[in-house]
Amino acid sequence: MKRFCGFVLCVVSLLALPVQADWFQRTESVMGTRIFVEIWQDDAAQAQRLIDQVMAEMRRIDALMSPYKETAQLYLVNRDAAQTPVAVTPELFNLIVRSNHYSDISGGAFDITFASVGHQFDYRKHIKPDEQHRRAGLALINYKSLKLDEKKHTLFFPHQGMRIDLGGIAKGYAVDTSIAILLKAGVKNGIVTAGGDSRLIGDRRGRPWMMGIKHPRADTHAITLPLDNISISTSGDYERYFEEDGVRYHHIIDPKKGESARELVSATILANESTEADALSTTLFVLGVEKGLELANRLPGVSAILIDRAGKVHYSDDLAPPGEKPPGP
Ligand code: AMP
Ligand code: MG
Repeated sequence: MKRFCGFVLCVVSLLALPVQADWFQRTESVMGTRIFVEIWQDDAAQAQRLIDQVMAEMRRIDALMSPYKETAQLYLVNRDAAQTPVAVTPELFNLIVRSNHYSDISGGAFDITFASVGHQFDYRKHIKPDEQHRRAGLALINYKSLKLDEKKHTLFFPHQGMRIDLGGIAKGYAVDTSIAILLKAGVKNGIVTAGGDSRLIGDRRGRPWMMGIKHPRADTHAITLPLDNISISTSGDYERYFEEDGVRYHHIIDPKKGESARELVSATILANESTEADALSTTLFVLGVEKGLELANRLPGVSAILIDRAGKVHYSDDLAPPGEKPPGP
């Protein structure tokens, strides 16, 4: 009888054999950035279909929110919104509203109208505005002056020359919508990365994901964190920049000054959603150590790791190593 049971079990497991569970991964370049997807699946064809869907989702968001593609709604807003209100999809409108929320909670450190100055730079060609144009752009940075019509989903710029850009939040948003596709399909373990923004589904099957924070001045990791089920975003002054006369001109602009934020070299945020982690990593990069940690400490579910210009690492209270924790009650 025992033998017979063993035989039945064996037949059942043989029938299940064609399904070979494994990790499936792919890297592509979309939005001018590296997209990486890795998922655990037991069907190779289904895994490839899901990865295709994620890449298509990345291209969809790029086609909507790119400031450079002439057919993108965001491009058309920048071209026309100082003449006439421009209608956008509810999705784009809502992401702009969400961006303004991060402006509100940060005293304007995050501000999508930074582009009024930011778009005068071309980091690849080492082009920066002259002082007169930079000052004129600085006068136009103020998210509060954007005219948003919540019913018609239109945007209007009260000033000629005003520009918006979602570069500080759109990649994180695209990671979230991609993760939603994977979760809906039942994926239990996986990662989606868009440049410096990653979100993890589950763990690496019994082990944590080992997530590195890039060393800001070397081709190695400064810190490695064991993580699962979380989003992690890093903003750094090494991503898009050029140097002139010993000054580093990089892509994260302090909206109050209209020039690159200089207190930090790297800002990492851990949060549940990638949209939040992305927006806040840019925000804290601008805010610097004191104000940045103060903001992270008051936001539930948000942790921060900041590296200053001297290379010193600063943690939010929940992560602070023993001895560095402020005296508690
Ligand atoms: P990240 O790598 O997420 O920090 O995004 C950097 C991008 O955010 C830049 O390339 C700009 O497109 C955008 N950005 C720069 N400064 C700001 C700012 N003060 N507020 C919002 N977005 C910004
Ligand atoms: Mg960001």
